[in-house]
Amino acid sequence: MPIKLPFRPRGRNLPPDLWTKCPACAEMLYNKQLEKNLRVCTRCGHHFRLRVDARLAQLLDHETFEERDAGLESLDPLGFVDQKPYPERLTAARQATGIREAAMWGLGTLGGHRVAICVMDFAFMGGSMGSVVGEKVARAAETALAERLPLIIVSSSGGARMQEGTLALMQLAKTCAALGRLGEAGVPYISVMTDPTTGGVFASYAALGDVNLAEPKALIGFAGARVSAGTIAETLPEGFQSAEFLFQHGFVDRVVPRAALRDALVGLLAYLRPRPVPRPATAGNGSAGNGRLPGPLAALLDPLAGQEARRG
Ligand SMILES: [Zn+2]
Repeated sequence: MPIKLPFRPRGRNLPPDLWTKCPACAEMLYNKQLEKNLRVCTRCGHHFRLRVDARLAQLLDHETFEERDAGLESLDPLGFVDQKPYPERLTAARQATGIREAAMWGLGTLGGHRVAICVMDFAFMGGSMGSVVGEKVARAAETALAERLPLIIVSSSGGARMQEGTLALMQLAKTCAALGRLGEAGVPYISVMTDPTTGGVFASYAALGDVNLAEPKALIGFAGARVSAGTIAETLPEGFQSAEFLFQHGFVDRVVPRAALRDALVGLLAYLRPRPVPRPATAGNGSAGNGRLPGPLAALLDPLAGQEARRG
């Protein structure tokens, strides 16, 4: 039987969604201010999870994103039912989040560099990777390879989507194979791990970047802390699945606060150019295809060319 309160709950007349309490420092944060600060706590720097649209808006040059494969949707090949059927879960997730799947990919420019980018959204079924997420990652990698564009993947995931069983696990191999081909062709891939990057996503594409970046205090790991400790029957150090711990042990190349992430990516993109194709350029991939460096730069990098230049 419900208990009748003799008073009205505090804050009952406040408009909803006006304030958010920081889970790290308990500060009450004004939502508009929080959005302006890229959803980072203004008091303690706690990084809240970012939705896919906000992430793309933060990283890419203004209105340059062209989404690809927007219509891909999961089927229910196993007829999977737990507390409710999988198709019902998908419908509920679509309605709650306004997106169709846990990843979105497309082409855009970042600091003037054209890139292929795939961003995961934890709000959609915990960012779980089923066939569609795997397919989007693979297609992003294949397009990056065909068009010789650097690839950026921003991960946020609890792991493989159990409702798709083995088909979800198959995505690990598929995405890794696509990234393998990209690596062989000398096209750079930058992985950005955000909170959380775990399970099958960590065990496949998130960990394979030529450069692996992570957001501060992001949870990064394969299994949960207790399972990991239990499996190897050892006590594991405090915070062994944090971005900072993995950085200290060489697994993550840099921990980058969100406010600095765009600049960090622009800086990396300036260094990490796709290897030029050895044969003559075909229409569409522009000057990157001719394999020749501009004169003064070639002289700087190639000592023989430099000598020739000095002799001349
Ligand atoms: Zn805080």
